[in-house]
Amino acid sequence: MTRVIRLPDPLSPNLAHLRASETIATSAEAKRRRAAGEDVLDLAVGEPDFDTPAPAAQAGILAIQRGYTRYPPNAGLSELRNAIAKNLSGLSGGRRAVSADSIVVSSGSKQALFNACFSLFGPKDRVLIPSPCWVSYPQIVHLARAEPVMIPGAADWALKVGPEDLERHTDRLVRGLLLCSPCNPTGAVYTLSELKAIAGWARKHEVWIIADEIYRRIFFGAGTAPSFLDLPDEDLERVVIITGASKAYAMTGWRIGAAVAPPQLVKAMANLQSHITSGASHPAQWAAVTAFSDPEVEQQVQRMVQAFGRRRDLVVNRFRDEALGVEFVEPHGAFYFFFRVDGIGAALTGTAFCEELMRREAVALVPGAAFGDDRWVRLSYAVSEPELDQALDRILRFVQSYGG
Ligand code: PMP
Repeated sequence: MTRVIRLPDPLSPNLAHLRASETIATSAEAKRRRAAGEDVLDLAVGEPDFDTPAPAAQAGILAIQRGYTRYPPNAGLSELRNAIAKNLSGLSGGRRAVSADSIVVSSGSKQALFNACFSLFGPKDRVLIPSPCWVSYPQIVHLARAEPVMIPGAADWALKVGPEDLERHTDRLVRGLLLCSPCNPTGAVYTLSELKAIAGWARKHEVWIIADEIYRRIFFGAGTAPSFLDLPDEDLERVVIITGASKAYAMTGWRIGAAVAPPQLVKAMANLQSHITSGASHPAQWAAVTAFSDPEVEQQVQRMVQAFGRRRDLVVNRFRDEALGVEFVEPHGAFYFFFRVDGIGAALTGTAFCEELMRREAVALVPGAAFGDDRWVRLSYAVSEPELDQALDRILRFVQSYGG
């Protein structure tokens, strides 16, 4: 007979604020219905629909065959730290030389974000987060026992924030800012001068910036998306850049991310993860070495970005032509489209919109509630063009049924 063990109730205060990730939950529900034979179109996904580029996958296979299956160096293989450093320096067009010593490799950029927040913030600290924001930011800040403070972005400015917005919420307890550009869930991208202005605010108040640049490569403007790494040294003293292999290289399952940070923080984060994960998966790190350095992989990245760009145009054009009056953020990066639903019907919430859409049209989207503002809904176009087109037929028919 199995004995029922009583868990402490409530569980540890460490988990007081913990909620399941709504984006993962929505996608899981769509997969479940699909597996049951329903014709569900899943536009709730947060990962590229492409396969990992073959040279990177092959490098992972080879690493296993060669026996690179023991513990890796805790902060990451020197080959990988070098490859990431060189890659990032290249993206900044030689304006910045990123040093391999400033990099810690982690199990996904999610762990890099956790390492940074857990190392920098603690009880009583406040961390500003422009809202809407990616689901895990407030959760990660809570896990560090700090307090997330949401700063609503301006609806007429792609839901971005500027120094004046941050200033209004700044007091002596504010220790950090978590900024995402290109942004999940909006697709908005901060310009270099906007980043510069925010860096100025942070310097003035000695606030740490954690810049989540995981979507940097998926950018539809000229060149690469502006980065904090493009700013002068004096702006980078309290900046951590988060990057990774998941989005740019279609390698979500390999779990490779990285943080670029000042030396003392690199040491602290490496120390922290030495007690938690002992470093990221060894063969996956070899796959990532190839991803970050191989010219053939780079060509594939560019093709993937072009495909995302075509899909973005498809979504934007169809919404513009067929959903008159529906407000949306013009996406310049990542693979998300964020549109407003409170003007549809009798002021729908994002949650009601998504539930009704799933019921009537079998399309999965993520309600804005998951990102802190339920007047909006997120559509991911990390699906094939035919699938996207079919999903748009259904979504636009649904919107039009409300007279929109
Ligand atoms: N940051 C953002 C903004 C994301 O959207 C994601 C993935 N959805 C991550 C970080 C985490 O990515 P990973 O851990 O796979 O590197």
